[in-house]
Amino acid sequence: MGIMAGKRGLVTGVLHETSIATAIAQSLLREGAECLFTHLPGDKMERRTRKIAESLGVTSPWLQPMDVGNDADITACFDRIGRDFETIDFVVHCIAYADKEWLKLGKFAATPRAVFANALDISAFSYMALGNAAVPVLKDGGSIIGLSYYGAEKAVPGYNVMGVAKAALEASNRYLAMELGRVKNIRCNLVSAGPIKTLSSSAVGGFDAILERIPQAAPLPRNIVSAEVGDASLFLLSDLSRGTTGQVLYVDSGYSIMGL
Ligand code: NAD
Repeated sequence: MGIMAGKRGLVTGVLHETSIATAIAQSLLREGAECLFTHLPGDKMERRTRKIAESLGVTSPWLQPMDVGNDADITACFDRIGRDFETIDFVVHCIAYADKEWLKLGKFAATPRAVFANALDISAFSYMALGNAAVPVLKDGGSIIGLSYYGAEKAVPGYNVMGVAKAALEASNRYLAMELGRVKNIRCNLVSAGPIKTLSSSAVGGFDAILERIPQAAPLPRNIVSAEVGDASLFLLSDLSRGTTGQVLYVDSGYSIMGL
């Protein structure tokens, strides 16, 4: 029997087979979890997410449109979960967005106010908002995770405003953990993943240079694969990590420990 047998939760961010959320869902399903999925609004988006969920072996997937920039979408999602299932065990936030025009080398300082605000709204505020909206349906001892990147802590050329958003995400994770742990023993943790080629990461200028750097400098001389993020996420979403909250778990070939 898998370590997630009898557990059910929400997985956001399944857009493509390369999506990190797809790998997380795969790990969860392998260990017996039931996964509910959200997608950006629209028939085309629904079809894409449905196809991936089915390819992972989920027949008749539970699908809900949700643009996290829209409060009503967030409310509708958790209201429906309450109606359909009463409670869930976990929430996976696998969402980020910034206008790619401003994810180019040398294009941080001039980032327009609206681009900055939108990146923080979709990539950081939404983590807190999903966590808050999930409280009524999350079981006591429930687990929430999100995805960060080392560009939250250090300046990474091209990552720009997304690095600022990830810094806000990491701080939000600590504050969310502080409050939700006291409410219902809910745990909140992030996985800081090394670079993986996905639709979002391809928008980061200089991403190929980041991918080339890891095998040269990291303790494990290779880039990570999304299944490794999936399995680390599984740990944080399972009872195996029941004493851990407010943390960032690095799945980055060890790159973040290096001083040079
Ligand atoms: P991806 O493009 O597959 O996933 C990004 C997801 O964000 C998509 O599913 C997209 O639909 C969703 N999204 C964007 N705007 C949204 C909105 N307004 N409402 C709801 N959903 C929205 O790329 P990914 O690399 O799998 O990204 C998933 C997470 O992993 C992100 O938080 C990303 O920053 C993080 N991450 C990625 C890497 C990497 O190298 N790929 C490294 C570290 C962290």
